[in-house]
Amino acid sequence: MKRLQRLRQNVHIRDLTSQIGFTVNHLIQPLFAVEGIKHDGEIEGLKGTKRLSITSTLKQIESDLNNGVTQFILFGVPAIKMGETDYFYNHDFTTKVISEIREKFGRALHLWVDTCLCSVTSHGHCCVFHQNGQIHSEKTLDLLSQSALKFTQAGADGISPSDMMDGRVKAIRETLDAGNYLMTPIMSYSTKFASQLYGPFRNAASSAPQFGDRTQYQIDVRNRQDAISSSIRCAEEGADLLMVKPAMPSLDLIQPIAEKTNLPVGAYQVSGEYAGLVALEKAGLIDFNKGLLETWYVLKRGGAQFIITYGARYAKSLGVGLK
Ligand SMILES: [Zn+2]
Repeated sequence: MKRLQRLRQNVHIRDLTSQIGFTVNHLIQPLFAVEGIKHDGEIEGLKGTKRLSITSTLKQIESDLNNGVTQFILFGVPAIKMGETDYFYNHDFTTKVISEIREKFGRALHLWVDTCLCSVTSHGHCCVFHQNGQIHSEKTLDLLSQSALKFTQAGADGISPSDMMDGRVKAIRETLDAGNYLMTPIMSYSTKFASQLYGPFRNAASSAPQFGDRTQYQIDVRNRQDAISSSIRCAEEGADLLMVKPAMPSLDLIQPIAEKTNLPVGAYQVSGEYAGLVALEKAGLIDFNKGLLETWYVLKRGGAQFIITYGARYAKSLGVGLK
C-alpha cells in the first residue's frame, strides 16, 4: 500500500488536502471536453461552464490557470457510443484531450480524469448489462480498469471513478499497479447518492439514462449507514481520497467518514446545487457571488478538505486566496 506516499509526494495533492486555511488550491474545476462539436455551448443553468472542443478546452485551462486554478477534473465525452453487446470502448478522444493538456501545460496543473461508462454506453448507465438486465460486473470493472490505465498512460495525474460499482477501486488500483503506475492516486466518488441534483450535468456529459434510474447502484438518500459504509469500502479497496456527492445535502456525513477512514474527504458541489444559485440570481433573489462563497465556507466548516465546484474559476475574484 503506497497510499501515504501518493498523498505526500505531490505538492498539488498536499495543497488540495491541507486541513489549515482555505485557498483556491482546495477547489477542483470540472471541464467537459466533447468530441465533434462545432461551437462551444454554455450548459443550461451552469453559468460559465461550457461543452468544449479540444482547442477550447486548452484555452479554458489557460484562462483558469491565470485565475489561480491548479486542480481540474476532466470529463471526456466521445461522439461514438459503445455497442449494446460488443462492449467496445474507444478511448481515443479522451486520451487525446489528456495528452494535449499535458503537452501544453506540463505540471502546472493537476489533472484528475473522471472514469465512468455513462458517457459512452448507448443507454447512459454507468455499467454494462447482461442480456437479462443484470449488471455485468466483471465486464464493467474490466472496462473501467482499462480506461483508468489508458487515461494514466496518456498523462492523467489521478483517476476518479464515479460509477459506484462494487469492487471498482480495487480493480483500478490493481490495474494501475500492474502497469507500474504505483503513484497515481485514486479519488473515489465514494458516497454518491441517487439525486435529482445531477440534472444539468447529464446534459453536459450526454449521460442521462435512457431507461430506469441509477438507484440500482447509487445510494438511497434515506440510508445513512449505506452512505458511510460505501466510503469505508472504497478506503479498504485502496482509494486515496474520498468524496461525498451531492455536497451540501451530504454535510452530515463528511466528519463520520473522515473519522472512520482517516482519509481526506471532499465534497462535489453538483450541477443542481450550482445551478440553484444561478437560478436564484436570475430571479433577482440573491447575490450569486456571495451565495457561492457562502456554500464553500459551509462545506469547509463541515469538514470538506477539498471541493469540486463549477465556480472554482471565480474563486480568485471572490477573494479566496492563492496561498
Ligand atoms: Zn457514470
